[in-house]
Amino acid sequence: MQFPPPVARRYPWRRFPVSAQSWLQPKRVVFLAAAVAVFFATLPTHFTAGAEENLWLDVARASVTADELLRHVGVLADDIFEGRETGSRGGRAAAKYIAEKLKEAGLQPAGPNQTFVQPFSGNSQNLLALLPGKDPDVQGETLIIGAHYDHVGYGTRRNSYGPRGYIHNGADDNASGVAALLEVIDAVMQTGYQPRRSMLFAFWDGEEKGLLGSKHWVSSPTVSLKDVRLALNIDMVGRLDGGRIEVGGTRTGRGLRHLMSSPQLSETTWLDFSWEYKENGDHWTFFQAGVPSLYVHTGLHDDYHRPSDDVEKLNIEGMREVTQYLVEQICELADAEQLPDFRSEATLDTPQTRRRQEKTLPALSPRLGFDWKILSGKNTGPSVKRVHRQSAAGRAGLKRGDRIVSADNLPCTEPWLLPAIALTSPAELTLEIERAGTDMPLALVIPLQGAPIRLGLSWREDPAEHQSVYVTRVVPYSAAARAGIKLHDRICALDRESINGSNDLLVRMQALLAEGRDNIVLKIESRGALREVMVPLGAFETSRPDATL
Ligand SMILES: [Zn+2]
Repeated sequence: MQFPPPVARRYPWRRFPVSAQSWLQPKRVVFLAAAVAVFFATLPTHFTAGAEENLWLDVARASVTADELLRHVGVLADDIFEGRETGSRGGRAAAKYIAEKLKEAGLQPAGPNQTFVQPFSGNSQNLLALLPGKDPDVQGETLIIGAHYDHVGYGTRRNSYGPRGYIHNGADDNASGVAALLEVIDAVMQTGYQPRRSMLFAFWDGEEKGLLGSKHWVSSPTVSLKDVRLALNIDMVGRLDGGRIEVGGTRTGRGLRHLMSSPQLSETTWLDFSWEYKENGDHWTFFQAGVPSLYVHTGLHDDYHRPSDDVEKLNIEGMREVTQYLVEQICELADAEQLPDFRSEATLDTPQTRRRQEKTLPALSPRLGFDWKILSGKNTGPSVKRVHRQSAAGRAGLKRGDRIVSADNLPCTEPWLLPAIALTSPAELTLEIERAGTDMPLALVIPLQGAPIRLGLSWREDPAEHQSVYVTRVVPYSAAARAGIKLHDRICALDRESINGSNDLLVRMQALLAEGRDNIVLKIESRGALREVMVPLGAFETSRPDATL
């Protein structure tokens, strides 16, 4: 990340010297290499489509290990690299380490003169490696997957929160991103994966001095700039906190949020699709050049641009999760049917406009109009707590203290059943009630207010997404609510067919409801996680249906 972040804070300085040698014990390296070799020797060399695609992905994800990530960050964030300032001795040594790894991986050099190195401003250097695409239709298209490897050296007034004059190892900023990218490369190369589009792996220098490396590349591109269809920047991914992975820039290309969502996220991990998009990393350089440009990040912290940004503070298990997510998404982008065109309006989408745009709808007025409570310890229906003024229930004569035995002949032993029936009944509802002072149960026929609600969902189109809509209202106790759909979830498919905007979904949904279907299947994206949900639409039963697939 480029200095400065929004708020400077004081933080007690701590140092944790690490020796590169401790991470590079030869025996351990040989053992790991042998284990990996055996693992992959048992697998076919190339995986293509269908079921094998998932197998390939599982293998690629499994090849990302905390051990290997720790080994890379341990070396890059060691004192011997003296904070990897661009052009410095330590910076050049870090470049050498990365170039060696690119060569070992078997990637094609993509710098000038058949080398991995693109030098600029004297001693600064970007490292570039290519994995050519295999699909003749799109192999001319290039994805740039980048991470900056420089940091701020000993720190200056312009780039350090201090104390200055000590080595700033930049373990999170951005040894973590470099390690993640090296592991992505390993996963891709070891499994023999061949992407449809070409991938250019870029390790930028001079980011901390003003995005110098990526700017140099754009001014002297090594592949034609018009062929670059997307850039993805990995910057600071070492401090996963609360499972939050920040994914920025999805609004720079229509449909990118959907492409960056995943069915593989763990229970505790979620994607924060940030609308904050500014000049604080190499993603910006590509956005300025008219390229849809994403970044992946795990957040700022108290050690940001201080000597205390050290390996010991990294969440290595978290890095493994982020890297596995990256492997999956990068391959999905490289193989996508189509990549989105550039969306220049992205900078107009701010957290402020987001609040306006994602505003939710107010609650609907109730069809019955009374509050109830469940009498504890009894397997009986709810008891009326308060009848609203001017409500259908009030006009029909329902009174406080009445106990609801059944609704339309269904016993109300489940708390959700009464409001759910009230939502879906066409015009009136018959309640059987017990009232104090009367011997026999009473039957009340209540004409319901408003139209019946079978699904309970409202949605709106997002101008930055064409294959999904987002939820602006979930009616409590409706079929949608019972299926676990939440405000701001994205609906991406209906009955396993993708949708094409709000109207398409509306027309198809109306047709299905008119058919009298028992249930529909929706593909939902919720905070980046993709899942299928079965929404019940059929007749109610007295036991709660198991609604989630
Ligand atoms: Zn930084």
